[in-house]
Amino acid sequence: MFKKGTKLYSILTGACPKCHGDSMYVNKNPYVLTETFFMHERCRVCGTKYKIEPSFFFGAMYVSYGVGIAFAMAAFVITYFFLETSLNVIFGSIIGTLVVFFPVILRISRNIWINLFIHYDKSIGKK
Ligand SMILES: [Zn+2]
Repeated sequence: MFKKGTKLYSILTGACPKCHGDSMYVNKNPYVLTETFFMHERCRVCGTKYKIEPSFFFGAMYVSYGVGIAFAMAAFVITYFFLETSLNVIFGSIIGTLVVFFPVILRISRNIWINLFIHYDKSIGKK
């Protein structure tokens, strides 16, 4: 499921969408907040340019809305159905989840966005 060659691999690891051989990000840890946005200009393995056009990653904003909803739903389901807490606690847990996972949501959104446009290339990936 998370093998190289699948979109999910690139989305979850932040690997180059074309060859899956290199991380797109300067710092792999999204929680280093000063470097969350820093990406390499090109893949060091296959040379793919990540920023296809100026302001390319603005589109990831739309994706982040959906990803944020998914995280909020997960927080809701866990607190409402498994912990059976009050509405205020549920609300707090959703806000907390969105704040704590913000860097992760941001990166997953960028990964999904770039994977919509660049597809895995077997011939490059196997080198
Ligand atoms: Zn690459």
